[in-house]
Amino acid sequence: MTVPAPAKFKPYTRQTITEARQWQWLTPELQEAVQVVSQVLPFRTNDYVLDQLIDWNNIPDDPIYRLVFPHRDMLAPDDYAQLRALVLGNARPEALAALVRRIRLQMNPHPAGQMTHNVPHMDGVPLRGLQHKYQETVLFFPSAGQTCHAYCTFCFRWPQFVGMDDLKFDARASTELAAYLKTQPQVTDVLITGGDPLVMNTRSLEAYIEPLLAPELAHIQNIRIGTKSVAYWPQRFVTDRDADDLLCLFERVVAAGKNLALMGHYNHAVELRQEIARQAVKRIVGTGATLRMQGPLIRHINEDPKSWAELWQTGVRLGAIPYYMFVERDTGPHDYFQLPLARAHEIFQAAYQMVSGLARTVRGPSMSAFPGKVVVDGVVTIGGEKVFALQFLQARNPDWVRRPFYARFDPHATWLDELQPAFGADRFFFEEDGGSRSGHDHAPAPAGERKVIQLVPAGSARAANGCGASAGPAMPVTPSAA
Ligand code: SF4
Repeated sequence: MTVPAPAKFKPYTRQTITEARQWQWLTPELQEAVQVVSQVLPFRTNDYVLDQLIDWNNIPDDPIYRLVFPHRDMLAPDDYAQLRALVLGNARPEALAALVRRIRLQMNPHPAGQMTHNVPHMDGVPLRGLQHKYQETVLFFPSAGQTCHAYCTFCFRWPQFVGMDDLKFDARASTELAAYLKTQPQVTDVLITGGDPLVMNTRSLEAYIEPLLAPELAHIQNIRIGTKSVAYWPQRFVTDRDADDLLCLFERVVAAGKNLALMGHYNHAVELRQEIARQAVKRIVGTGATLRMQGPLIRHINEDPKSWAELWQTGVRLGAIPYYMFVERDTGPHDYFQLPLARAHEIFQAAYQMVSGLARTVRGPSMSAFPGKVVVDGVVTIGGEKVFALQFLQARNPDWVRRPFYARFDPHATWLDELQPAFGADRFFFEEDGGSRSGHDHAPAPAGERKVIQLVPAGSARAANGCGASAGPAMPVTPSAA
């Protein structure tokens, strides 16, 4: 019997997608949209996504097609028309670049002000490639993990994929990370994120992770890796040349006494219908690592509660842990993808009601907003007033966590900063306590956190949404060597 050769990773971009056999199956209008919109938003896919995940009998409505292929409605009609004219008219590169940049800047490319905020300093020097957003967790963006096996059209990190270098994180070595962590004994978690860190080969990843196992960093209990490879390229854990080495690395981390948590980004049930994707989950959890499932709720892609229920149920059966359903946020083609909070709650509740208690580890729909992670618990009528019941799952001020609060029901609201307090109040309780729903912060820092050096600024109410999206709200960062 002949054993088929393991699949080799082959990406496609705007320049090369015409070589994919599936390109011929797109109508001229869909082909044009890819060529035009991908001037603005990043586009990358691969053979596995094209061959296994997209149902080509159902384009353009297929959820994975929507997830990776640019669509003309992702741009405002005027912008699309202008861009189309330049692309099809072979305009001067400078004219095209100027228009592309203008459109990108309209799309709120950096919603959380992450390039300039939350970046910790050591000896007065900013540590590029690190974010210290709240006390316990440091985010690390290795330079070698700044792409993904395919790009999601809704991704909040899209600017880093399109060469807006001034909006790009990266860290070239882990020495700075380890040095910084030694000065931060309160930090228990490191989240390695990207892009997708698992685009790196195992040797490169190992060079970043090994220093975290040193005895001086015993306070680092949890090493998290944000990744979409579990869905876009599960071969990474099964048949890639160094897949076994990767699993050995996971085992070593676990043997060193750390909790290794893969924060697996899943968007749709189809991503776990493939045998290789299921093998990937089993191999990951077989190392002693945990795999948590998270992803945003996105219009056109995963509005069907049955898809969420199937995804969580399959994940649980394989050993993964349903974790978060996020609310989509205001960057990139946000108008195209956003859903009202009321609808998001309905979808979450319907899906939640379909699964057993083992899958009800999932939380949502959750907004990673400025004051914290706020979950929509429900819509109720109290004293004749229809309201949203909300609570913090995580907050800048720990006293706010799990304290119910209420907002006037608004069927159109899509985010916390569009909500108004219920029952005639003019502020939410956390605003009286110095917090803000919109990113302004007037609170004095709590004792012990007075030496604040970075805060997320006004207007940066929305935080991460992609693979490394579970880091929580912004928190003051105390200077280490100041
Ligand atoms: S959401 Fe995650 S996998 Fe998708 S493009 Fe963004 S970083 Fe990459």
